[in-house]
Amino acid sequence: MNVRDSEIILGMLKEKGYAPVSKPDQAELVLFNTCSVRQHAEERVWGQAGMIKKRGARPVIGIVGCMAQNYQEQIFRRLPQVDFVCGPANIYDIPLLIEKALKEHSQLLAVNMEKRPLLCDNGYRISNLKAFVSIMYGCNNFCSYCIVPYVRGREVSRPLRHILAEVQDLAARGFKEITLLGQNVNSYGKDLPGPLNFVRLLENLDRIKGIERIRFVTSHPKDATPELFKAMRNLASVCEHLHLPLQAGSDKILHMMNRNYTLKDYLKLVDVLRRQVPDSAISTDIIVGFPGETEKDFKKTEQAMKDIQFDEAFVFKYSPRFKTKAAEFKDDVSNKKKLQRNHRLLELQGAISLKKNKHIIGSTEEVLAEGKGSYFQGAKKKQAVLGRSRSNKVTLFPGKMDLISKLVRVRIKRTTAHTLIGEVDDKKN
Ligand code: SF4
Repeated sequence: MNVRDSEIILGMLKEKGYAPVSKPDQAELVLFNTCSVRQHAEERVWGQAGMIKKRGARPVIGIVGCMAQNYQEQIFRRLPQVDFVCGPANIYDIPLLIEKALKEHSQLLAVNMEKRPLLCDNGYRISNLKAFVSIMYGCNNFCSYCIVPYVRGREVSRPLRHILAEVQDLAARGFKEITLLGQNVNSYGKDLPGPLNFVRLLENLDRIKGIERIRFVTSHPKDATPELFKAMRNLASVCEHLHLPLQAGSDKILHMMNRNYTLKDYLKLVDVLRRQVPDSAISTDIIVGFPGETEKDFKKTEQAMKDIQFDEAFVFKYSPRFKTKAAEFKDDVSNKKKLQRNHRLLELQGAISLKKNKHIIGSTEEVLAEGKGSYFQGAKKKQAVLGRSRSNKVTLFPGKMDLISKLVRVRIKRTTAHTLIGEVDDKKN
């Protein structure tokens, strides 16, 4: 979501004549588009923004995004050199804020959450092949550890016609893949009049010629439905990959997290998905060291990962986020234990990913070639084309760079835990 917001900001700045420089000390303007989901991300912003030195009135410095919404005026107290603070709902005000900061030399605050951008934007994209498309903003779920509802507000769906217009435009410009973005895409349309829902949106988008692949993040397990899985099976452009955050394998912890499902509910969902879409890949998010997580609770998460056999897992150490419910709980798992648990799960997932990828050896995968990469054959480094399979696995294969932007059938020859390596399947291209 932040990548998409950064693209929109870059597009507006380009229209105003700005161009990127290679070092911050050459810049006339420095913006930090920030994330508040974890403490670590925030610490990096406090540190890096603190290091930007002013030369008189330049550069203009702006703190944008979730930290801006979260800390508001506190940022000016901690970083007096900052010129403006702009929440995620106000990013379209950035050109005006820059102009004002240059004229008035006063500190400006733009944190009005009611001002969310629902319209199609200036169309600037970093890639010319794959695009993020926001379908909704905010979240109503209030998971106890999560800052998002406080900094991005309640759920607001973009009208269908706006999304269709944006994707039709992308298709006309030659984009092949879109990723639909929302904190909880499965609640798309609940706040709009009429029978529109996420599956209807997918059906509409699947009809747009030229868009070969549709992905979406993120699905909340309490809202993912068999109807969605049927859509994944039946709609040609919808990829067979589901990101479904489990967060924990202990029902006690899931309850404290306010996730509104049990491990049993989650397992049932995975079972239904795998029966509907047998070749689907599932990735997940896990938090270790949530308040009250005992060794027994942690082992339940470990066991759940062994049972489910995810294709990929993103594992995070819990850190309290102020304003959230969980910040009132005692953060009673030591950092050392959080680290150990994090390592244990990453190691476990590495072994599972490798085992799962080995099953793919010998099969032919459709890969969207995106750019250049490299891999080692013995001690030799080989240049390769890099892309992703429909199940979202990074894939490398030797080939001419004019394959980039094409869908290529690749026969998988070997694999690591995170990368498939193959060669162009001449019979199938
Ligand atoms: S569903 Fe996701 S964004 Fe919403 S509160 Fe829970 S973790 Fe945060």
